[in-house]
Amino acid sequence: MKRCGQPPDFKPAPADELERQAAAFRALNGETPTSTYPEHEKLRAIQDQSQKCGEFFEWLTGTKRYTVGEYHRHDESCTEDGTKGVGRFTCGSSTSVLYPVSCNTRKLLAEFFEIDEAKLEDEKRAMLAALR
Ligand SMILES: [Zn+2]
Repeated sequence: MKRCGQPPDFKPAPADELERQAAAFRALNGETPTSTYPEHEKLRAIQDQSQKCGEFFEWLTGTKRYTVGEYHRHDESCTEDGTKGVGRFTCGSSTSVLYPVSCNTRKLLAEFFEIDEAKLEDEKRAMLAALR
């Protein structure tokens, strides 16, 4: 018997297909299952802390106008012959001067909270593929 609103050749999707689609939908809505998208789960667990750290960093560099800097450390690339040695550095940098460092806040936070952005991207692709 044909039911109203149903195409004539309607067949229900297999249970595993429905579960796969449901998992993909939950993942895109922030309900990430543990085993399928572990990097997203890590990200969700640290999201609030990461948000606060990001806000603090923006306040520090924006409102306070502070700059992150680092001291130069000579290495093999600082010499003409590729070796370390006192007085033979040709890089032109001083180890006693603080040099400004440009910072990508998102990348720094990911590194600090040990979030692998490449894995995150792979998981996003997998979520999208699961929806197709
Ligand atoms: Zn150097």
